[in-house]
Amino acid sequence: MLDRTGSDRAADAASAAMRMKEVAKIASLHADAVDRDARFPREAVDAMREARLLSLMIPRDHGGEGADFAEIADLCATLGGACSAAGMVFAMHQIKVASLVHHGEDSDWMRDFMRRIARDQLLIASATSEGGIGGDLRNSVCSIVPDGDHVTLEKDAIVISYGLDADAILATARRAPDAASSDQVMVVIEKHQAGLAQTSVWDTLGMRGTTSHGFKLTTRVPAAQVFPKPFAEIAAQSMLASSHLFWSALWFGIAGSALSKAQAAVKAAARKSPNVLPPGAARLAASAADLAGLKALVRDGIARFERARHDEDELNSMAFAIAMNAVKVEASEKAVAIVQAALGIIGIQGYKNANPLSVGRQLRDILSAPLMIANDRVLANTSTMLLMSRLDTELEG
Ligand SMILES: Cc1cc2nc3c(=O)[nH]c(=O)nc-3n(C[C@H](O)[C@H](O)[C@H](O)COP(=O)(O)OP(=O)(O)OC[C@H]3O[C@@H](n4cnc5c(N)ncnc54)[C@H](O)[C@@H]3O)c2cc1C
Repeated sequence: MLDRTGSDRAADAASAAMRMKEVAKIASLHADAVDRDARFPREAVDAMREARLLSLMIPRDHGGEGADFAEIADLCATLGGACSAAGMVFAMHQIKVASLVHHGEDSDWMRDFMRRIARDQLLIASATSEGGIGGDLRNSVCSIVPDGDHVTLEKDAIVISYGLDADAILATARRAPDAASSDQVMVVIEKHQAGLAQTSVWDTLGMRGTTSHGFKLTTRVPAAQVFPKPFAEIAAQSMLASSHLFWSALWFGIAGSALSKAQAAVKAAARKSPNVLPPGAARLAASAADLAGLKALVRDGIARFERARHDEDELNSMAFAIAMNAVKVEASEKAVAIVQAALGIIGIQGYKNANPLSVGRQLRDILSAPLMIANDRVLANTSTMLLMSRLDTELEG
């Protein structure tokens, strides 16, 4: 492995941030059309590929840049502020890559796949939700079935974001037909191996460009494409944190972009009547404090993950899961409140479509946050753990 110094890493992060700013400009140009037509944000994803942003987290010796969670979260926020759908595609791809980076290193096939992601800038999607269990990530109805040195799988995948445009899908399933519903594995299915019969159309209030249609997913892949680690460990050690943190960062970006429009509205009002404080100014100040709180929440969650990431016991602990769940629930609710407050500050100009101060798209998009793994489900999971563990009442650590 190459020995990178702290300043090398900082330079890499700055370079990635610059590249993402350029991608965000392109995403922003097409955001309204992507939303209106509920179409894949192709221009933004092409630009990500061009800027080699899809392999940022892959280790350097597999052709990537070895970026950490904090860098990826920052980029999710930047892109989310420009186009929520493109930001969500980027975030979901990175969540899948995080699982490969953290759990694929011991497998020849997975290491080679990481090299191919870096070389060809492959886009990876996720199929965890399933008919009959909804968003219950830690249970599956379907199972892989051994077939010689291959496995087969049939999954009623009710939501696969950008399923038709992905180069591979990471799907969860029970380990075997007689396994318990929570005894799961995760399998990599490449595009040419995936049978995708569309079962529903993604015509939604917001996040329309994620094109998260439903599919009957069928496949037969070599057994080497099944992650060696049980999905329970993958979920606890990388996926729980990466999904809650990258999504929360993206929601922060959406909230920040809506509140920036509110600030522009207040400034315009102040210019019109220089001696009078505009009526929205105090509400803007209150929402700016909420945005700062949201930022602190996400950054604290990332710091907590960075402290825990080399300690399997800590990653598997209830205290860590409770902390990550808290970030998800709080961030999703705060972000909705901030975008709604931005609309209140801007008024009718924010409510009108095709208006520079419109926050309609941001409001519709952000309403997906509390539903995306339903907050009630997350809280139910936390409440069970709180029956068995200590409440975190310390300011340090
Ligand atoms: C923009 C977007 C993109 C997505 N992309 C993908 C993707 O690429 N791949 C994928 O697999 N999935 C994806 N999903 C699906 C997502 O991860 C969840 O599976 C889905 O949002 C949950 O759907 P649900 O509300 O019907 O199901 P459920 O989670 O089953 O919830 C149904 C209802 O029951 C309530 N509920 C459930 N459990 C409990 C409980 N224990 N206690 C109290 N109430 C409970 C919930 O609050 C909710 O009201 C995406 C979702 C969105 C919004």
